[in-house]
Parts: sequence; C-alpha cells; structure tokens
Amino acid sequence: MKLPKMTKRYCPKCKKSTEQKIDLYKSSGKRSSLSFGSIIRAKKRGLGTGTGNLGKWGSKPAISKWKRTGAKQSKKSTLKYTCKECKKSTQQSGGFRAKKFEFK
Ligand SMILES: [Zn+2]
Repeated sequence: MKLPKMTKRYCPKCKKSTEQKIDLYKSSGKRSSLSFGSIIRAKKRGLGTGTGNLGKWGSKPAISKWKRTGAKQSKKSTLKYTCKECKKSTQQSGGFRAKKFEFK
C-alpha cells in the first residue's frame, strides 16, 4: 500500500490542523532478550519449569505462537504522525492491514 510522506492532520498540541510527517512504527512489539527458540530449548533442559515466579523464563506460553504461523499474510500498521510546527508526534489509533507499506 502506498502512503504519502506528508499529510494535513489535526494536532492536539497546536489545536489546529497542520502539516504532519508520516512514519511507520515497527509493526511487531518489543523483542525480549531471549529468543523464542532458546526458551523452548531451556524448558527441555529443565530450566524455567516449576512453581513460583520464573523470572525471565516465565510470562510466555511454551508453544502457542508457533502453531499460529502463517495464519495471516498481512500485518497491521501503526503510523506515527510528527507535527511540523511543534515537532510533537502522535500515534495512529486503530490501524489497518496491508502486506507492504511504501512511502511515495
Ligand atoms: Zn503541532
């Protein structure tokens, strides 16, 4: 999908519509220091199993993410709008799905 580099949009700081630059946020969330594969290998060795707070080994399900691979071909966008006048940036609410994002 093609997107323009600049757009006119309402800026909540300036309280009027201004020229704003569009950027794309990285669509995935923050990566943890441990990759998903290394958590699985650690579980096989017996690390991060048991009761109580597991620290860095906890808070993630063991398999579920791999089962879902290939479920969707497109990714949801998060656009960043940077105001030209006050240099404040706002995030797009909602977002839409597309395979690829391009700036004209
Ligand atoms: Zn502004």
